[in-house]
Amino acid sequence: MEDQEIHGQGQIAIRSGSDVNRSRSFRSNLGMRLDSFLTTLLLLFLVMQHWFFCFNRPIQHLFPSSQLQAQLVRNLSAMPPKRKATEPPAGQPNSSGSKKSHTDWHQPHPNAKQTEDFGIVLRQFYPPEMSNERCQAYNNGELERPIETLQKACRETAHKRQFINVGSAVVHWFKSDLRLHDSRALYAAYQFAKEHQIPLIGLYIVSPEDWTAHLTSPARVDFTLRTLKRLQQDLGELDIPLHMETQEKRRAIPKRVVELCQKWGAKSLYANIEYEVDELRREAKLVRLCADNDVSFTPSHDTCVVTPGALASQQGKQYSVYTPWYRSWLAFLKENPDYLEISEEPGSNPGNARQQFKGLFDCKLPDPPNTHTLSDEDQKRFEGLYPAGEHEALQRLENFLEEKGKEYEELRSMLSGESTSVLSPYLACGALSARTAVAAAKKINKGHIDRYDPGYMTWISELAWRDFYKHVLVNWPFICMNKCFKPEHTNIEWEYDKDQFQAWCDGKTGFPIVDAAMRQLRHCAWMHNRTRMVVSSFLTKDLMLDWRRGERYFMENLIDGDFASNHGGWGFGSSTGVDPQPYFRIFNPLRQSERFDPEGEYIRHWLPELRDVSGKAIHEPYARGAAAIAQKNGYPRPIVDHAESRDRALGRFKKAIQ
Ligand SMILES: Cc1cc2nc3c(=O)[nH]c(=O)nc-3n(C[C@H](O)[C@H](O)[C@H](O)COP(=O)(O)OP(=O)(O)OC[C@H]3O[C@@H](n4cnc5c(N)ncnc54)[C@H](O)[C@@H]3O)c2cc1C
Repeated sequence: MEDQEIHGQGQIAIRSGSDVNRSRSFRSNLGMRLDSFLTTLLLLFLVMQHWFFCFNRPIQHLFPSSQLQAQLVRNLSAMPPKRKATEPPAGQPNSSGSKKSHTDWHQPHPNAKQTEDFGIVLRQFYPPEMSNERCQAYNNGELERPIETLQKACRETAHKRQFINVGSAVVHWFKSDLRLHDSRALYAAYQFAKEHQIPLIGLYIVSPEDWTAHLTSPARVDFTLRTLKRLQQDLGELDIPLHMETQEKRRAIPKRVVELCQKWGAKSLYANIEYEVDELRREAKLVRLCADNDVSFTPSHDTCVVTPGALASQQGKQYSVYTPWYRSWLAFLKENPDYLEISEEPGSNPGNARQQFKGLFDCKLPDPPNTHTLSDEDQKRFEGLYPAGEHEALQRLENFLEEKGKEYEELRSMLSGESTSVLSPYLACGALSARTAVAAAKKINKGHIDRYDPGYMTWISELAWRDFYKHVLVNWPFICMNKCFKPEHTNIEWEYDKDQFQAWCDGKTGFPIVDAAMRQLRHCAWMHNRTRMVVSSFLTKDLMLDWRRGERYFMENLIDGDFASNHGGWGFGSSTGVDPQPYFRIFNPLRQSERFDPEGEYIRHWLPELRDVSGKAIHEPYARGAAAIAQKNGYPRPIVDHAESRDRALGRFKKAIQ
């Protein structure tokens, strides 16, 4: 990935007016032959650059060239080879060249109507559920992955972007990276601004349509807005304005971003990449639109510790199983310790920025859209549970590592007592970077990521899951389009019983561990990882309900809702995902309850109906002598029989994948 380094250097050399003049006068003193020789060299250089390099590396200065060379080779070989859309992939049996296969791609999945009716595919934003053949076309490289669309846009505009001059401001577009500390793109934007003595402007666009299409929860919207308020204050102390505005139509965003850059005289725009499909495609569009309007847009890799596409198996394939992927992730970070180097916060804007952009400093925090408001009571509660901002995130990180990190391996699955970090809301909105979290754990673990203290090592491996699922998303983008990682799992016969679904949502299934967890979700907009696994398994195996409905409900309610991790978790729970638990391993809610909440403290805390139940009856009140209390307090009997449901699930899975 030294593309960024070379590209970056080229950009700076060409952008600097004095350099252009120097090079002009130098050339005019030479004879025609030397001139044309130089021109040929320059052309050759540009052509090579154009072909080989696409992203501006945000951290180019951190990498010695040899490391970058090695990394580029790895990254390029890790990504699937480029191929024309109609060209069959080398060495794979495939009918894609035929008209029939192309027709198949455009046919919706046979169950499309059902998934639409049950609220899985949001038809106001997206086409009907795609066919499994279309997923295969992504796998075969016959359809372009969105990351490739972005790479192509960067490649094809590289030449144009080199000739864009400096402008009189630089813009950093904040998205899910709401912090100053350790942001690759923000740092690059600041460096550029500093080098050219021009001001840096922050931009944030509220997109109600995006929030609706992406099922963002009101709790997460509220958390985002509170975090923005903090960010605005922190930026203000550096004389950096943060312009925030609402764009009702998400399609209008790229055009609006360009308009704002032009209005502020900015010719350089920076942003960290988001890897979801809509976002990558929008980014690609913006790269081109900017280039056509004399603005250079530099998207940076930031949110993952290791860049998606950087890790490949010996056969050059992307990993779909966590354990070998994790080994490779650890080895990569040991070979490339710079990936854990923290980007500094930006410094202050030049003195006149406050005058120059006076209006921007007074920018009002946007209101939440009507579709995403919270009651005052909920808002107050979430504010207490999750105070906003990166200072809070960094403090939590430090406290967790010092006070609980060592015991994490042993205690993380226990439901009572807060044994995990509860940093996920901060990671999801980018108030904390995963890199900072891993680097801090490494530091306290005596500089190691793969040995020494099992507590810290395990915590690092959990953060790696976050990276893993984002890597999966980039390589298998159709998972972002309501499809299973293994498309054939879409054929499983699911139930669509609305009453049972509602009982699950309300925490009224009669399975105390499940109900306690669902009530925790409703109250805290967060749930413990262990119970996320329990309730996802329960919805999909015991109730046999379509996992995508559960995935949606989680997104709509979690404060830490993150597409890749949520999809990954649901894939695991429902055995339809990447590296899933095999379908025949079905969580037994009773065993989970006895093992991870042995004294029933978690259940009693969340289920007031069962507070008076003592001893082991708490796990199964109707079968263990506490029926009278449960009944009196209105706690329901189990809505299914676990053993029967288990048999049904085994049968359905077997049938679908045979
Ligand atoms: C069905 C299901 C849905 C989930 N949905 C989400 C989601 O929308 N957003 C989300 O951030 N996590 C999700 N997870 C993963 C995990 O449950 C949460 O990240 C974790 O519970 C957050 O609590 P914590 O911050 O205390 O985690 P800790 O145990 O302190 O771990 C630290 C960080 O590591 C990451 N992490 C830990 N476990 C996982 C995991 N299994 N997968 C991915 N990242 C992990 C998170 O960023 C977490 O904040 C889901 C898991 C399941 C089983």
